Amino acid sequence: MTLHDLLFVETDDSCAICGIRGVGVLTEHHIDGNPSNSTYDNLIVLCHNCHHAHHKAKGLTEQRIVDRKRHLIQKTLTTYGLNAMKIASRNGFGVVAMPFLLYHLVDTGYMTKEEEQMGYGDQEDATARFAITERGKSLLSKWFAQRKECPRSGAAAREAEPLGRSLPSQSR
Ligand SMILES: [Zn+2]
Ligand SMILES: [Zn+2]
Repeated sequence: MTLHDLLFVETDDSCAICGIRGVGVLTEHHIDGNPSNSTYDNLIVLCHNCHHAHHKAKGLTEQRIVDRKRHLIQKTLTTYGLNAMKIASRNGFGVVAMPFLLYHLVDTGYMTKEEEQMGYGDQEDATARFAITERGKSLLSKWFAQRKECPRSGAAAREAEPLGRSLPSQSR
């Protein structure tokens, strides 16, 4: 999926602010105002009217766009994906997860798949270890900056934290 496709999928082919549809009226806006910064999290789909309203300072504030984009990022990367990135960023080792739950983050370059693992614990399906990329770290710090947490002990930090144990069991 291209970056362009991803942006339009996340707003369901409509303006992120007013919801109007129609490919002819939709544009891509650079949130930080830098047209060469074409990263996923710096772009949002706006219709011509909303885009114009923002650039002419007529009622659509940057804060509203930023709040909307944060919501869209959560939807697109999923809560599960964002939590995996936070854990991987904190422990430096990565997370062990079922691959299908994190492939969208590999596709978008926020995580990398490090190695296949045998079933974790009572799970029989193969899992893999995923690590966070620099790009993933910068997305987290830009959009989801966390309060400082207690430093973890070296041993604990080396352990990959399992995810998904509380997920309902997969039907086969
Ligand atoms: Zn609009
Ligand atoms: Zn713009």
